[in-house]
Amino acid sequence: MDIYFYNTLTRKKEKFIPIDNKEVKIYSCGPTVYYYAHIGNLRAYLFMDNLRRVLEYNGYKLKHVMNITDVGHLVSDSDEGEDKMLKAARRENKDPFEIAEFYMKAFLKDIDKLNIERPEIIARATENIDVMEEYVKKIIQNGYAYETEDTIYFDTSKLDKYGVLSNRNTEEQKAGARVEFDNGKKNTTDFAIWIKAPENHIMKWDSFFGKAYPGWHLECSAMGYKYLGDHFDIHTGGMDHIPIHHENEIAQSKGFCGHIPANYWLHVDFLQVNGGKMSKSLNNLYTLDDLEKRGYEPLVYKMFNFTSNYKTPINFTFEAMDSAKIALNRLKEGYITHNNGTDNVSEETIHEFDQRFLEAINDNLNMPQAMSIVWEVVKYQNKSKKLAELLKKFDKVLGLDIDKTNTASIMIPEKIIKLAEERNDARKNKQWQKSDDLRDEIMKLGYQIKDTTKGYEITKI
Ligand code: AMP
Ligand code: ZN
Repeated sequence: MDIYFYNTLTRKKEKFIPIDNKEVKIYSCGPTVYYYAHIGNLRAYLFMDNLRRVLEYNGYKLKHVMNITDVGHLVSDSDEGEDKMLKAARRENKDPFEIAEFYMKAFLKDIDKLNIERPEIIARATENIDVMEEYVKKIIQNGYAYETEDTIYFDTSKLDKYGVLSNRNTEEQKAGARVEFDNGKKNTTDFAIWIKAPENHIMKWDSFFGKAYPGWHLECSAMGYKYLGDHFDIHTGGMDHIPIHHENEIAQSKGFCGHIPANYWLHVDFLQVNGGKMSKSLNNLYTLDDLEKRGYEPLVYKMFNFTSNYKTPINFTFEAMDSAKIALNRLKEGYITHNNGTDNVSEETIHEFDQRFLEAINDNLNMPQAMSIVWEVVKYQNKSKKLAELLKKFDKVLGLDIDKTNTASIMIPEKIIKLAEERNDARKNKQWQKSDDLRDEIMKLGYQIKDTTKGYEITKI
């Protein structure tokens, strides 16, 4: 069956045609390892996992590269602000290399907990400085860069067009070209690709330009080229990468080899919290550990993410997490019930579910639609091992470990969950007597309900 992806480059949903029919080549922009990943960052990698699994489900082998930015990413995506790694090093009074090592491990632990398949190649920027240097030299040779006292800039005025992803018009580019900067930069859209390191700069390498370090955008172009060649299938990243980081990657690639490196550019939208931005100052920035402390196992967060398509923003609330927790338990229960079932289910029924699920995931990873088919299977009146097998097959895409029963409240019967939800509604409506009565009823049936700051937890007595 054909696969369709929304391609930011063409602003259309397009049929996916791989360059090589057997192996799909993907590059994903990875984390800057200067702090713990928050759950918004993790949405980006859940999307990456979803994409991998859908392609594998369709029979493709993958060669997938993800970078780890452990050098040279400034606080702003353009050439402004402090270096994130150096800032963190100062904050924690540590060497930036130690910072990178520590937070990279924390990141990998998080993605493992979420059952995010690791890309075949995880490439650290600091281990590929030589590749980046060669890449810059070629850009210079090809006439797409100029040198100031302390920086080598990419000259965007040499391109046929800058801003192909965000579709900026050439007028804007020309307007940019008229600006003159004190530091010798010629056009607003020009960006640093190789930077001379000040004396006290810790992360620096000997190079043709003296002791220097690479610009952030360069690492993705150079490492993409090293592992995947100058032309590969899919490039992924967050929405925030569209206007600067990915435009600059495309610019570099044009300067290096004359063309855009990837055919399909896929971008995941943001996670919001209570309808707004997630930020430390609003005290609503959560890590996976924070969720675990509040009683949500990591895969509940994955389940929650399937309630929206990656192309739309998703709103994080603890109420939604409570629903996802209940849903994950129901899914696991549904699997067990079918697995113990002896009813008959026709091959046509199985085939129909199978096809509809495939159609949904192949339609630009339409996970809400795919989940609705999963629920139809779970709720199917005839209970059969064949349907359990089908759910297990779907789980290759979901990666929710539906056959593992390690969830604390996994065996909580449907009836108890219903009563708990009724009680939750009663509490919300301040019907205290009703809420107490329901709690007693739940107790009599052998379960205890504990209210948490953001919801409730059910345990067996
Ligand atoms: P960084 O480590 O800061 O480079 O970010 C890693 C990834 O997380 C990037 O792909 C960002 O686009 C993505 N990201 C950052 N904040 C959010 C958010 N609130 N929701 C979804 N993705 C995000
Ligand atoms: Zn990148």
